Amino acid sequence: MKLRPRRFRDLPLFAKLLVPFLTLMLFVGAFGVFLIVRDLGSRAQAALDQDLARRSLDARSLLRDRELYLLESVNFAANLEGVARAVSNRDDATAARLLQSVLALKSDLNLVAVTDRSGVGLAEFRRETSKDTPLRESGGRWAGYELVGGALRAPGQAKFTGFLSSAGRDVFAIAAPVCSAPTGCSSVGAAVVGIDVDQLAVTARGKSGVALYDSKGRLLARSGRAATERRAPTGITRRTHAVDGIEVATLYTPFDVQGTRSGTLALSVPTAPAFSTVRGAGIRVALILLCAMVGVVAIGAMLSRRILGQVRPLVETSRALGHGDFEARAPVLSTDELGELAHGVNQMAEQLQASYETLELRVAQRTEEVQRLLKERTEFFAALSHELRTPLAIIRGQAKMMLDPSYPKGTKWVTQAGMTIDDSSGQLLSLVNDVLDLARAEAGRMEVDLEPLALPDVVKDLRPMIEGLARSSGLRVGVDVPRGLPAVSADRNRLREVIVNLVDNAAKYTPEGGRVDLSATANNGSVIVSVSDTGVGIPPESGDLIFEPFYRVRGTKAQRGQASSGLGLALAKRVVEAQGGTITFESEPDVGTTFTFTLPRATPAKPAKRAKRDPRRKRR
Ligand code: ADP
Repeated sequence: MKLRPRRFRDLPLFAKLLVPFLTLMLFVGAFGVFLIVRDLGSRAQAALDQDLARRSLDARSLLRDRELYLLESVNFAANLEGVARAVSNRDDATAARLLQSVLALKSDLNLVAVTDRSGVGLAEFRRETSKDTPLRESGGRWAGYELVGGALRAPGQAKFTGFLSSAGRDVFAIAAPVCSAPTGCSSVGAAVVGIDVDQLAVTARGKSGVALYDSKGRLLARSGRAATERRAPTGITRRTHAVDGIEVATLYTPFDVQGTRSGTLALSVPTAPAFSTVRGAGIRVALILLCAMVGVVAIGAMLSRRILGQVRPLVETSRALGHGDFEARAPVLSTDELGELAHGVNQMAEQLQASYETLELRVAQRTEEVQRLLKERTEFFAALSHELRTPLAIIRGQAKMMLDPSYPKGTKWVTQAGMTIDDSSGQLLSLVNDVLDLARAEAGRMEVDLEPLALPDVVKDLRPMIEGLARSSGLRVGVDVPRGLPAVSADRNRLREVIVNLVDNAAKYTPEGGRVDLSATANNGSVIVSVSDTGVGIPPESGDLIFEPFYRVRGTKAQRGQASSGLGLALAKRVVEAQGGTITFESEPDVGTTFTFTLPRATPAKPAKRAKRDPRRKRR
């Protein structure tokens, strides 16, 4: 099966509710973190730059301070009482003694020296630290140093500063001429004082790293975690290096001593402390974002679960209803819209169930009715076939006998056979007519020719037949149909058929010596006709079944073997009803039976309804 790409609309409701939230959170959060970190980063950078500048300034002030210290020291050394004379006289012992006092007073100096006019050292003192014992030397060649050469050649009391390398050590030094006279200086030698650059760097570095370069960019000294370069940049420059695996920012600043560019100070500070705040803030913001996302997911999940908890039963209920389980109901879990929805679904389910039950009941009723009709039809045809068979069998028997050459064919025989055939075919015709009438009645097409009739006249015509019937059966007859009865609306022939049928039945089912009565009375809007007998009666369980075609009470037999088709009452009922009346009976077994039917009064104002006459109909 080809799998279609999963789209948003195919996702479960739970994911649909959460995904937009999460995506939004992620975007907003990431953008927020980016902005905050960028802002904090630039702030940290600015703070770092400020710190660098401040420290660099501090270091340069210290250099300036040291410069002043050296100036003071060189002035002190060059103008000390007796120095000029000792230099002029090349009295190195006196010069050394005098310089020792300078060393004693200026404890930060690492170098103190005086030279003669040609720059040869008369007395030179060096010490590693202020606590070290000074080391005395003499005979050093100082004239080669630019600053010393300048001092030896200087016409006035000018000072010369710079870096010099003496005995393998770099020294920040100042040289001044030793004048023979205080006024109108004539240089007899030079005094040199200096501070070790390493010492200088250590003092200047504070909590950072410092590197000192000379005016040519050559590295002189390095202290602390200072970044170094082969050659220092010429202008103010900021660079970032990795020192011992740690990132440091370095600010290169050229510095002047005595108004001349003397070198470059490089001050380094590690960047990590400044940026650790940024990192910390970034981590905190990220954590807050993460917590917010987890919170959103948790709240979203909780809400979704709650909502889905209400939606799921609805889905299950609608599914169950769809599968025909009309008992299914959704639990109403809240009073909100979902609660209303559940309520609505339940109402719908109830209506559906009610409709379904009604439908089922109707279907059952219809099925039952159809089955009953089918059964009745089968029974009807079975009974009809049975009824048709007897006269047909007789006719056929007679026909066969007539065709049999061995049978004597006298006039008497032919007459008898002809009578039998006539009798049986008459029965057949009557049966077929009855069935036809019944079929028409069932189809609602029984045709009655209604007219205003005087019932006594109808009964009067029938009287001979009724009396004859009773007499032949050994019964007594009573007829009570008053002449003053109102006219009725009826079909004359049909009415006769009904009366004859009822009287015939009464005579058939009443033993000899019994009684048959025909009477009629007027009621409000109709005339009631009754035929009663003192016969065998009809058992109560038969009820209205006796009006069904071919129904005969089981065990009841015609008293004198008369023919019985079971169609008489069925037809009588349909005829009475077609005339607008009703027919009922009351009976008690072995006591007697009374059949009663009504006839509507004829309304003189209106002409009696004249139903269309069926030309095919053959009267009996
Ligand atoms: P049938 O041709 O058999 O008389 P009917 O439709 O006239 O057919 O009557 C149906 C059945 O009702 C009869 O078979 C009989 O069992 C019963 N019945 C009708 N009239 C009477 C009566 N007056 N007394 C007793 N039984 C009767």
